[in-house]
Amino acid sequence: MIVGIDLGTTNSLVGVFKDGAPQLIRNAHGDFSTPSAVALDDQGQLIVGLAARERAATHPDMAAQAFKRFMGTDRRLRLGKREFRPEELSALVLQSLKADAEAFLGETVTEAVITVPAYFNDAQRRATRMAGQLAGLKVERLLNEPTAAGLAYGLQERQNNSTFLVFDLGGGTFDVSVLEYFEGVVEVRASAGDMRLGGEDFAQVMGQLFCDACPDITSATREQLSRSTHWWRAAELAKRELSDRESTRMQLVLDNRALSADITRDAFEKASAELLHRLRRPIERALHDAQLQPASLDEVVLVGGATRMPMIRQMITRLFQRLPLRTIDPDQAIAQGAAVQAGLKARDAALDEVVLTDVMPFSLGIIVSQEVNGTRIGDRFSPLIERNTPVPVSRSGVYSTVSDNQTFIKLDIRQGESPVGSENLKLGELEIAVPPAKAGQASVDVRFTYDANGLLDVDVRDLLGGNQANTLIRNTDTNMSDAQMAEAVAKLQGLKRHPRDDADNVYLLARAKRLYEDRLGAERQVIQDWMAQFSSALETQDPRVIRQARSAFKEALDSIDTSFRF
Ligand code: AMP
Repeated sequence: MIVGIDLGTTNSLVGVFKDGAPQLIRNAHGDFSTPSAVALDDQGQLIVGLAARERAATHPDMAAQAFKRFMGTDRRLRLGKREFRPEELSALVLQSLKADAEAFLGETVTEAVITVPAYFNDAQRRATRMAGQLAGLKVERLLNEPTAAGLAYGLQERQNNSTFLVFDLGGGTFDVSVLEYFEGVVEVRASAGDMRLGGEDFAQVMGQLFCDACPDITSATREQLSRSTHWWRAAELAKRELSDRESTRMQLVLDNRALSADITRDAFEKASAELLHRLRRPIERALHDAQLQPASLDEVVLVGGATRMPMIRQMITRLFQRLPLRTIDPDQAIAQGAAVQAGLKARDAALDEVVLTDVMPFSLGIIVSQEVNGTRIGDRFSPLIERNTPVPVSRSGVYSTVSDNQTFIKLDIRQGESPVGSENLKLGELEIAVPPAKAGQASVDVRFTYDANGLLDVDVRDLLGGNQANTLIRNTDTNMSDAQMAEAVAKLQGLKRHPRDDADNVYLLARAKRLYEDRLGAERQVIQDWMAQFSSALETQDPRVIRQARSAFKEALDSIDTSFRF
């Protein structure tokens, strides 16, 4: 069975295509969403998901979150004394989802479709594949998140030539895509986005509003606050409350002082004006690339948890002069679509008709120099495959030598939209020998082939001498060698884990600890007593006693904690 996975910045979900429909799978806590968080407990045991997110509040140095933002980079994240690559942390989240799927299906899961932001570059896509491999999953396909959302909404069942815009504002990334359906094919006509813009930025705005409203917060305290998870949590809660109400009270304990401020939706929306403005550019770019006017779209689809903010819906309604579609839970649409695609891969009969094409979200080319009015100008970008070309795609171009008796041509392969070659992301180099000749007479044919999984195959052929060279682009900085892969697998396998049955216990204790740190005085005493009672129940090792104590402990925590769902 192939599973479909939405590997999100804040939360991840897994689903399968079963009985003719996508079906999401619950984790050990009974939730569809698993926080993309990894932590180590005091004994060095691994915790993933809800408990890890609680642990991040009390022991930020022992936990990692939002590591999707670092996928494809060299960044290492520290958990206690150990260091992890972002793909290793992602692999731990994937392993947890895989275990949930196996518990649900009663069979081993070895294959997956994993979604990525359409805006992810080559290195980021590669890191995602790597994460899948480290988790013991064969990644059948990387699917662009908006395409997944489109599939979840059944856009493929619409009339020919229907066009849809998918607006996806998640925790840390923003994507806009224009999809078109024609005779059994869903095609991404254009996609654009901002990898560094998401719901978390709105929480940041909320946190700043709070600081502005509390006169005794100095700039030094502000600095200290912005690094504290308590501040983040309070800002996040206030932000979510303002999606349902006109006003909220944000509260926080700082150096044993209780601070609070009332914040209105109106003030929050005004303070978010710049973020709203930043959302417009990718929309305009995607529409421009797809050569469409807002009015000619058939539907606008909202996905991603942050689209629950009324200001987002208002902006979309104003911009497109229509109400957007949001019948599927915005947190689940991508995972549902991934499950549809998994069904497609497994050739589920119900989906036989649907074919899917993606576009390449960025331009690919090489650096060249060019003669302009007798002067040679270097460092120019010459795109071979333009952004938003449907994939798979293969394009070629001919390039010539620039000096007499030049013995080789070196291709500097780049990805990006800047006219200045060196400003684009370097993907690799390829050298080819050419026969000595006058400048401009030796030339090579360069062919770029890009497939649906984001692999770039570069072929170069010398047109005079017939030499050939080829490379499959690997970003050496971020790609692991086989030896590194084996080492990483051994490292992940060597981590001690809590049994899956234990997940709720670990989570409740971590949550109680976080609440204890948050609260003061008598409340602390009560929480400590609850923790002691639960711990003594655990020591009995009697499943019935533990079950009862767990239920009482959970009820008690729920009664004093409103922010437990994130
Ligand atoms: P996703 O990555 O799609 O799970 O989106 C997560 C983002 O959605 C986070 O930044 C959340 O703060 C945000 N979010 C979830 N629920 C709400 C809500 N009710 N109001 C505002 N933002 C929300």
